[in-house]
Amino acid sequence: MTYDTLIIGTGPGGYVCAIRAAQLGQKVAVVEKSPTFGGTCLNIGCIPSKALLHASDMFDEAGHGFAALGIVTPKPVLDMAAMMKHKRDTVDANVGGVAFLLKKNKVDTFFGTGRIVDADADSVAPAADAGADAASARVYSVAVTAADGTSRTLAAKNIVIATGSDVAQLKDRDGKIIEVDEKTIVSSTGALELANVPKHLVVVGAGVIGLELGSVWLRLGAQVTVIEYLDRILPGMDAEVAKAFQRILEKQGFKFRLSGKVTGVVKTAAGAVVSFEPVAGGPAETLAADIVLIATGRVPYTQGLGLEAAGVATERGRVVIDGQFRTSQPGIYAIGDVVRGPMLAHKAEDEGVAVAEIIAGQHGHVNYGVIPGVVYTMPEVASVGATEEELKAQGSAYKTGKFPFTANGRARAMRHTDGFVKVLADAATDRVLGVHIIGFGAGDMIHEAAVLMEFGGSSEDLARTCHAHPTMSEAVKEAAMAVEKRAIHM
Ligand code: FAD
Repeated sequence: MTYDTLIIGTGPGGYVCAIRAAQLGQKVAVVEKSPTFGGTCLNIGCIPSKALLHASDMFDEAGHGFAALGIVTPKPVLDMAAMMKHKRDTVDANVGGVAFLLKKNKVDTFFGTGRIVDADADSVAPAADAGADAASARVYSVAVTAADGTSRTLAAKNIVIATGSDVAQLKDRDGKIIEVDEKTIVSSTGALELANVPKHLVVVGAGVIGLELGSVWLRLGAQVTVIEYLDRILPGMDAEVAKAFQRILEKQGFKFRLSGKVTGVVKTAAGAVVSFEPVAGGPAETLAADIVLIATGRVPYTQGLGLEAAGVATERGRVVIDGQFRTSQPGIYAIGDVVRGPMLAHKAEDEGVAVAEIIAGQHGHVNYGVIPGVVYTMPEVASVGATEEELKAQGSAYKTGKFPFTANGRARAMRHTDGFVKVLADAATDRVLGVHIIGFGAGDMIHEAAVLMEFGGSSEDLARTCHAHPTMSEAVKEAAMAVEKRAIHM
């Protein structure tokens, strides 16, 4: 049997692609090397981290937030085993959901490591009018080697590489990789599995994952110090938002050592010692920690895929694709973390849908200008579109409207007044170019901005859209009104 489309990897890119391809009438198979479907996102990423973020937020709220609402409870007691069970149950339910959906859509599933072994270019001659996707005339072979060493070969006309990413390694002063044992020196994977709350957690890297997982353990009682190479947190996010967010995190107890370069992590009887020095030069320092989380990013994962032999070009580890997800080898496509663009689950999902549609001869498309990014801390940080720095760098003329949650009735009622909404609009056309929110529920609120931007809407469109009262979202409307200096409640 020859599959129309065979997808290697079942993370959010791969499984979503499989379902969409099956919906479009293709005969589809997926290959997964892990024992469960769902990839990084469902097993060791988005889902378990959000389960712990929610549980630790509730713990913190019960300990510090209830009294002000007139709820008197004894000091909450942490049952770490139960909290980890909540995380595992959440993961299991999501992973099981993917298995159900693949079966429901009649996608054939194979567990094992997939390797492209053969590109039989001559098996069927491409039709003269086959157009861009003459690729479908080829048949590829993919060897699938299971964990027990047994192997089988699958044939497919189209292959989608959706093999995701792995944690980036950090090197010490001598260029030696700092060994992650997932016990004392951990990656995000180990940080989601700690058996006890560390007394002192040192996080290397002030990106999204470092701040989210730092928040989990801070709320549960750890002292958390974040060492960051840059002079700011959340690189890539709007700088004003990042600065305000840093102050909020510091109020919560986070300690930041910015412009600091980690030069070594050495395990000790009590934990580990982290050495770092100012990026600009100066005396080196050390910090003792019982757990060190290395959160310096992720790198594309293509190990064992046989890309070189298959003639699939890569650049700095990433699979190179064109605007339609085509690799250098006709009929082989790639999506998700393994290709360019933000390493986000929803970006991978949208690419999965688009590539399935392209393979089916449709016009699948992803608008990279409107991909929301969310930091699931308390409060959340969410953004879509351009930052102020990007607009300045492009030389774009823009107007800004801002509105703080301290002036929002619902935020006061919930005691969630930290943060603000910032709307950036084109100075000439009023088209919204970017929206940035720090605030309770920012990750949900951002989507009205995303929809607006998909339709090329203006700040006036947002300002004249009736928003229910009292909601946090009214601050989005008010920020849009503030673009023309006509916010009502400020
Ligand atoms: P992956 O999810 O990495 O899946 C790739 C799959 O391919 C894996 O299952 C792997 O086993 C399989 N595979 C690899 N090689 C082979 C092979 N040769 N044969 C067969 N199978 C293979 N993103 C968000 O948008 N929101 C979040 O809140 C968020 N939180 C995160 C938290 C953490 C701690 C981490 C680590 C990541 C988080 N991410 C988040 C990022 C998100 O997980 C990734 O962007 C997303 O999983 C990428 O999807 P993917 O399909 O490209 O790859």
